[in-house]
Amino acid sequence: MKVQTETKTYSIYVEENASLRIKEVLHSFHKNVSKILIVTDSNVAPLYLEKVSNLVQEYNPIQYILPNGENAKSFEHFYELQTYALEMGLDRNSLIIALGGGVVGDIAGFVAATFMRGIRFIQMPTTLLAHDSAVGGKVAINHPLGKNMIGAFYQPEAVIYDTDFLKSLPESEIRSGFAEVLKHSVIRDSDFYNWIESNITELSQMEGSNLVKCIEKGISIKASIVSNDEKENGIRAILNFGHTVGHAIEKNCGYGKMTHGDAVAFGMLVAAKISERINGFANFSQLSDVISRFNYPSKIPTNISIEQILKSMKKDKKSQNGHIHMVLIKKFGEVYVQPVSDEIIRETLVY
Ligand code: NAD
Ligand code: ZN
Repeated sequence: MKVQTETKTYSIYVEENASLRIKEVLHSFHKNVSKILIVTDSNVAPLYLEKVSNLVQEYNPIQYILPNGENAKSFEHFYELQTYALEMGLDRNSLIIALGGGVVGDIAGFVAATFMRGIRFIQMPTTLLAHDSAVGGKVAINHPLGKNMIGAFYQPEAVIYDTDFLKSLPESEIRSGFAEVLKHSVIRDSDFYNWIESNITELSQMEGSNLVKCIEKGISIKASIVSNDEKENGIRAILNFGHTVGHAIEKNCGYGKMTHGDAVAFGMLVAAKISERINGFANFSQLSDVISRFNYPSKIPTNISIEQILKSMKKDKKSQNGHIHMVLIKKFGEVYVQPVSDEIIRETLVY
């Protein structure tokens, strides 16, 4: 599969043993790679680092292992990574491999975007959620005042998705990533949504060809949206479906306490309920059934108040002058952005 943006066209490989392709990808570059830095985290390193390192042995790869989890996307780790890259002699012809989930992809991508004004990088995603984060060119670290506040738009040279690597992923992380797959189907592809609905039992044991199909479909939907709006000036806004409420929940729970996907799934439920109320969306209960089959939360965590959620939604970087804009559904495959009043949100959140 190819992604075409204004600034770059790159290939995405999704298959068992896709990691074996890394050599051919590196050999296909016009400009030789001088050195490789593999960035990964403490969970992924013992599982796959040696394999990937061996595959690129001819480039004498060096490695940097981040702690696992959201806290790795910090200024401190960003600084340490840059220092390490300088000390180890990376130059403008070097390349970074981001081997891990969305956290590793985001920080390693941002290091690549900024080291010597930008060096090449390759995404090797190891989570289901990363089908979303590895495509689209958004890279970032967190600021103590907000998640993903410091970042760039920076496209990888390639995305190499070895679905074998997902076999070790805990069930909670599969569920988290599947929320974004579901989101992609709802916003853009009713056939894919219907396929999910009719295969829900098999999908809840996400493995094999179903997993590959979910990743491929999810990526192709995301790629088609971002290709038309690389810098997020228009259509890309629909990717925010479920995220206005989802981000507010994540923030108030404390990042890392609830998975991103669990928060987004609940956010989709709220957005669907609001859509039912505002524009007569007719399939709320269908979507709600799918969401409950995956055991996503269906209520706000008890330690968070509705007013806290509302406040965070207004502070979201996508709200405008304190007006909350949400992505709502007309029907499966068709969504749009609309301002929603505080009253409607309050009433729907108690649902
Ligand atoms: P993550 O990278 O923290 O991975 C989740 C957990 O799974 C971690 O503990 C990790 O160590 C572990 N793990 C990863 N791969 C594994 C494997 N194969 N086997 C066993 N364990 C494994 O989280 P994530 O859910 O992949 O990504 C979340 C991050 O992605 C957030 O920081 C979010 O902001 C970012 N994100 C970015 C974009 C974007 O467009 N750039 C989009 C969505 C999300
Ligand atoms: Zn998301």
